[in-house]
Amino acid sequence: MPAPVRSDAAYSAKPREIDAVVRTKIVATMGPASRSEEAIRGLVEAGVDVFRLNMAHGSIPEHEETLGRIRTISAALQRPVAVLVDLAGPKIRLGELPDGLVECAEGAEFTFVRGEVSDRPDAFVTNYPPLVDELAVGDSVMIADGTVSLIVEAKGTDEARCRVVQGGPVRSRQGVNLPGVKLSVPAMSQADWQHAEWAAAAGADFVSLSFVRSPVEVTLLEQLLRTRGSRARVIAKIEKREAVENLEGIVEAAGGVMVARGDLGVETDVASMPMVQKRIIRVCQQFQKPVIVATQMLDSMQHSRRPTRAETTDVANAILDGADACMLSGETAIGEHPRLVVEMMRRIARATERQYLSDRWKYVEGRIVATQGSLASTVPDFPPSPERLVEGLHPITQAVVEGASRIAGDLDAKLFVVASKSGLTAIARSKRRGAVPTVGLSDSEQTLRQMALYWGVTPLAHVATRDINQLLERVSSWGLAEGRLASGDRILLVAGIGFGTGGHNMALVHEVP
Ligand code: PEP
Repeated sequence: MPAPVRSDAAYSAKPREIDAVVRTKIVATMGPASRSEEAIRGLVEAGVDVFRLNMAHGSIPEHEETLGRIRTISAALQRPVAVLVDLAGPKIRLGELPDGLVECAEGAEFTFVRGEVSDRPDAFVTNYPPLVDELAVGDSVMIADGTVSLIVEAKGTDEARCRVVQGGPVRSRQGVNLPGVKLSVPAMSQADWQHAEWAAAAGADFVSLSFVRSPVEVTLLEQLLRTRGSRARVIAKIEKREAVENLEGIVEAAGGVMVARGDLGVETDVASMPMVQKRIIRVCQQFQKPVIVATQMLDSMQHSRRPTRAETTDVANAILDGADACMLSGETAIGEHPRLVVEMMRRIARATERQYLSDRWKYVEGRIVATQGSLASTVPDFPPSPERLVEGLHPITQAVVEGASRIAGDLDAKLFVVASKSGLTAIARSKRRGAVPTVGLSDSEQTLRQMALYWGVTPLAHVATRDINQLLERVSSWGLAEGRLASGDRILLVAGIGFGTGGHNMALVHEVP
């Protein structure tokens, strides 16, 4: 007997029981606390989807070793996980201070001078030689993550004199931010070029660029990667005022985006940052680009075994804003409880998604626009329907994903399967925020690893076939073994069959025997 089609009334009457699958992805930064084989294994088991190698710290041989371990463990556990190589970009840092540390008292005078070494405790040198020329009277200079701030009061040919507005201790090599100052520094330093070339050769899945200011900088890195034979997607880190001003262009040019709140909260007014985060995520939804929210998400867990209430709320709110992934930085790189913090992030994601998906079940499979705002809900009206096609995705594929998502909802399918060569179809599906869990298949191992970042998509370990029946068999046996499927359950498969449309032209409903 055919299954009854749900009526709208049936949709709104009952909240749907949501499964245990966690849809939001977790990015973990590697560091001394997490780069051993045992720690990496623990993190994969706890639910890390993407490992971030921060090129601002450590050497290439060290990162190479970590990457090798990640790949070995991912293969052993049959869990495709991605590697994100994060380029430091044009970060300005102080040089060496005579005593390694100086106390900047409020009202005191300090001077930025040329050169590589400072011989006076009240004079700063930096790794950016033109700084003295590019500062102007009235500019503010922030040091040490914005904890110390100065204002430029006078300029000479070889120095810029500043007054301390907010005092505190400053150490050698700490970061310098110049909110609103337009610097001539190139997008990528020599070290960044070297790191990008290494990332391409090592098979990185994503490469992120810090302090992006314009779309052309994103394109420059992408071209470098492509000429080196890499298919890594470029993640633009939004952390400068100029990037927020050029947001649409940057998002359009990038393969993904990171809301890099560490520097963003210094380069822009920290009080406005929550709303900037929401805008960045909304633009990523419009352009259908994956977006990662980063920095201080569960910061107190570097030392504590429990997060603060504000931190758990921050993670939940990022998910409700529409983040595809949440990132851990110091928590996993140098913290005392890397595995515990990943487990905690997963628990928050699960609790948030459960409520979100069950409240919004009516909206999330095909009826988003038509019914938006009409149901009393505990969560905001997210996501807006994606406004643009995924760049490079055939319009037929986009339409088939839309239609298949609706069918999956109507038939109460238990899995939505996407077979995709480039992964773009998986992004289109992911951005619809469907409640039916999605499984990604590909004959490219790198595409599978990249799918690890996309919200709601579980990449299955590599299968060397494009035969539809074999793919369905593979998914069914995996689903049965994982307890995600039972006999009689329905699966929606979106794939392409070669009748020359160029797009994914097939949506197929399969019932598990
Ligand atoms: C940030 O600034 O939030 C960030 C993620 O970048 P980094 O850790 O490189 O400072």
